[in-house]
Amino acid sequence: MKKLPIFLLIIIFLLCSCAEKRITKQTFSFDTVINITADKSDEKKISEALTKCQKFEKIFSRTNPESELYKVNCGAKELKNEHLSHVINFGIEMSRLTDGAFDITIAPLSDVWNIKERTAPPGKSEIEQALKNVGYEKISFSPFNLNNTKIDLGALAKGYIADRLREEFVKSGCENAIIDLGGNIALIGEYTVGIRDPESPEKIFATIKLKDKSAVTSGSYQRYFEYNGNRYHHIIDPRTGYPTSNSIASVTVISPLSMHADALSTAIFVMGEAGLKLLKSFPDTDALILFENGEILTSDGFKEKYDLKLKNN
Ligand code: ADP
Ligand code: MG
Repeated sequence: MKKLPIFLLIIIFLLCSCAEKRITKQTFSFDTVINITADKSDEKKISEALTKCQKFEKIFSRTNPESELYKVNCGAKELKNEHLSHVINFGIEMSRLTDGAFDITIAPLSDVWNIKERTAPPGKSEIEQALKNVGYEKISFSPFNLNNTKIDLGALAKGYIADRLREEFVKSGCENAIIDLGGNIALIGEYTVGIRDPESPEKIFATIKLKDKSAVTSGSYQRYFEYNGNRYHHIIDPRTGYPTSNSIASVTVISPLSMHADALSTAIFVMGEAGLKLLKSFPDTDALILFENGEILTSDGFKEKYDLKLKNN
């Protein structure tokens, strides 16, 4: 089976000449590389944050049989874990707001598409069968029941966790940190952030300076397989049951909260330009859409607040 390297969608450059004062530690969790960078004096806090990532995986993983979400998907009748309950509630709010273009009950389709393992698309009948069990409005709350659907928090959990880790660093007085969960970035301090070129993900297409913000990119070039010249990637349109196909290469969202940026980058990827209207429901949140033909579309706020520097690689 052909496996493609996974490029993180965003990378960070330290702005100051203080790189030698910083330390980065790494782990692998949520099927992605996690890097946390902070001052050397905060080394212990970095290690604690990495341990927390493993704990969060035992809450949000859809595939780990020990996880809280796994138990919920197997029919647990209560949402006991407060982190899980919070993210599911926000996910349902987001699903409503997007009229189901973003849908946390995408799991039956994620299972059928199984982008990580597949080398050819599933059959039409498998997709139609899975679609019957997708729909956030099927979930009932009193009493809690998934009613045959299943939850996938792949578009939200990394953002939520980045927010929780960032909060801990802030509480402990830390003034510099880069929390990078597979390209899902939450920052304390000011940094230059590079957005990868979807055409050649080893290159950067643009940089922006960000301070105390989160930046998240969703792209069709990170997790995919190719079959008969077509690319099948991991962001699925719940309205069709197929990977989103709308000439968008990537969507980058910048927000004070990483969970908002995470959810919105996926939602705007599915909705296209129309998705930019979602931004008005989220304070100080902006987006950049990069189309496959190289065109760029930004929200009005993005133009006002950020100086996008295009790179000529
Ligand atoms: P990544 O997590 O790989 O950085 P995204 O944040 O864009 O990328 O989330 C993609 C993940 O979200 C998929 O792997 C799947 O778990 C889930 N997902 C796919 N399509 C949708 C959708 N329409 N609505 C909500 N979640 C989705
Ligand atoms: Mg996302």
